[in-house]
Amino acid sequence: MTEYVIETPPVFALPVVGTDAQFPVRRVYCIGRNYAAHAIEMGHDPDREAPFFFQKNPNNLDTSGTFPYPPHTNDVHHEAEMLVALKSGGTNIAVDDALDHVYGYGLSLDMTRRDLQSVQKKMGRPWEIGKAFEKSGPCGPLHPVSEVGHPDQGRLELKVNGAVQQEADLNQMIWKVPEMISYLSEYFELAAGDVIMSGTPSGVAAVVKGDVMVMSIDGLGTLEVSVI
Ligand code: MN
Repeated sequence: MTEYVIETPPVFALPVVGTDAQFPVRRVYCIGRNYAAHAIEMGHDPDREAPFFFQKNPNNLDTSGTFPYPPHTNDVHHEAEMLVALKSGGTNIAVDDALDHVYGYGLSLDMTRRDLQSVQKKMGRPWEIGKAFEKSGPCGPLHPVSEVGHPDQGRLELKVNGAVQQEADLNQMIWKVPEMISYLSEYFELAAGDVIMSGTPSGVAAVVKGDVMVMSIDGLGTLEVSVI
């Protein structure tokens, strides 16, 4: 048993529906512009170009049901996204084999300091300051594939204070789940514990303290998060 010179940091893990056992998170990949209408609202061409990814840190994820309004921003946006959790990985995974690596699916919010992200984009700098801050990834519990299969269609919705802000069908994803796993595995060695936020549809908008976000995807339940 290795001894460490400082206390070992805790493993971040997601709850799993139907069991007390949890899913430990190794890496968090997030895909950008995966719904045409969102690409257009962000000022980009919706044509199918190669997917791109950025990362959050595992301990940026949070399951408390609250989102503390972060510092140094006046424009924090919600991005409702289906989360894909891997039970195994590898490199150069074929599209046809990709779903064999999925443990389960869940709901997640890719909270974004849009004002800071916009500055970084203009300057050609990395996005972490806009994307990978504390509690920037509110998540719900995972639903194992054994219970829900592989959702590739169905309504995704986000309401803020009861009003629908984002709505789409999972079948509108530009890059489907097997394609994003295969593509990622060409550039990174994927492994058990990796999760992928699969991109947000249009309707991203700012939240303020006191707002209540309620996200749902057909078959994957709901996620309620209060901005505090
Ligand atoms: Mn996103």
